[in-house]
Amino acid sequence: MFTKTVFPVKDATVVPVTNQNESFPVNRIFCVGRNYMAHAAEMGISIDKSTQKPFYFLKNADTYVQSGSKVKYPLQTQNYHHEIELILAIGKAGKNIKAEQAFEYIYGYACGLDMTRRDIQLKLRDEGKPWDLGKNFPQSAVMSDLVLKQDIKVDVNQVHIELRVNGKTVQSSNTKNFIWNIGEILEDLSMYYELQPGDLIFTGTPEGVGPVVIGDILQGSVEGIAEINLEIV
Ligand code: MN
Repeated sequence: MFTKTVFPVKDATVVPVTNQNESFPVNRIFCVGRNYMAHAAEMGISIDKSTQKPFYFLKNADTYVQSGSKVKYPLQTQNYHHEIELILAIGKAGKNIKAEQAFEYIYGYACGLDMTRRDIQLKLRDEGKPWDLGKNFPQSAVMSDLVLKQDIKVDVNQVHIELRVNGKTVQSSNTKNFIWNIGEILEDLSMYYELQPGDLIFTGTPEGVGPVVIGDILQGSVEGIAEINLEIV
């Protein structure tokens, strides 16, 4: 066996965990595509839950950036958007998970931003092409530290979620407005992938997405779970 590599192996992506000495190594980052009716509507899409299923895209683990960072305005976009989201962290492997058992597989939660090159994403969408160039790029998965599920006193399916840009509230909703709740997401996604410890799931953004520019200060929160802040540079 060769033990030397042709270039150094990159360090794993790890997310700090609040009040713990151990950090959480990131495996995959799944994102739910449209999970709030009012956000789907502002994207020009109507959703009928009785006939439609959730869909997903992925980000590479190394797109992670910690809350508090200065986030660089990305390449090749003129319409760089914020999407505040509740994030689930998986702590136990499982496939064909039932919605009622979903919480057993969750390690903890975070608050984050699915940063998006909207002009590129919409062009790809309208051409029927994959969204990767619009969604999966450096520093596009902004996250607070994780909070252990045992440390959370709120019902994560009914918490306020909001984002302020330069102090002005631009996104404000509640996770009770999810089209597919946390149990339904894990049940559906785990039919296609055996979920693994280290997987993260961005659960979708509410309405009010919009552009940010260099110098903007973003502050977001999921009530009772975590807060996030960053500056675009
Ligand atoms: Mn999103």
